[in-house]
Amino acid sequence: MRPEKGVLIVLSGPSGSGKGTLVKKLLEQRDDTVLSVSVTTRQPRPGEIEGVHYYFRTRKQVEEMIAEGSLLEYAEYNGHYYGTPEPPIKKWLEAGKNVLLEIEVQGAEKVMNHRSDLVSIFITIPSMKELEQRLRGRGTETEESIQGRLQVARQELSRAFRYQYVVLNDEVDRAVERIQTIIEAEKMRYAYMEDLILEVMNDAQAQ
Ligand code: 5GP
Repeated sequence: MRPEKGVLIVLSGPSGSGKGTLVKKLLEQRDDTVLSVSVTTRQPRPGEIEGVHYYFRTRKQVEEMIAEGSLLEYAEYNGHYYGTPEPPIKKWLEAGKNVLLEIEVQGAEKVMNHRSDLVSIFITIPSMKELEQRLRGRGTETEESIQGRLQVARQELSRAFRYQYVVLNDEVDRAVERIQTIIEAEKMRYAYMEDLILEVMNDAQAQ
């Protein structure tokens, strides 16, 4: 299958693995890459902005979107719905932008199961102890939510094998560099370079 012009990047990792920071840095470095904004039924955290971090919706609204088929994937995580609106993704890929989906593992597996033209990256932390410290350090979660997220993290790590790449987030700048390397390599796959090859062949014939 011929891919769209941009690369669809599926990125997952336990809550507290620092994915958000990596994504933010990556987007600052690459103006050819956009982040898909998800819908969620969870409450906004302090500082989160509607339409930038998430579209905050009720369960009823998300269930309507599911019924309409307007979500590329959705999952329930820690008692809330999270889903990826499909229409903007196609538009961005056709326009040549790489599209980043920062989603949890169940949703990521759904996307992997029905699309082969994507690159999947799992972000890992050096240890569970460090993850717990990061979650507590955030200061925005209740004890119940922290325990829930640690439990989910264990399950998520056990699905890392489904991803093509694993990036260790021991140090932010190094982890961003590792993701950059993956994107650069992906763009050199034949499928993305075919237009160039055809052009060079045409050129050779013309001579
Ligand atoms: P948080 O509540 O910390 O923002 O996100 C919780 C988890 O939901 C994270 O692992 C995040 O990657 C994931 N997530 C965010 N948006 C989506 C989405 O649209 N679909 C799925 N399946 N997971 C999502």
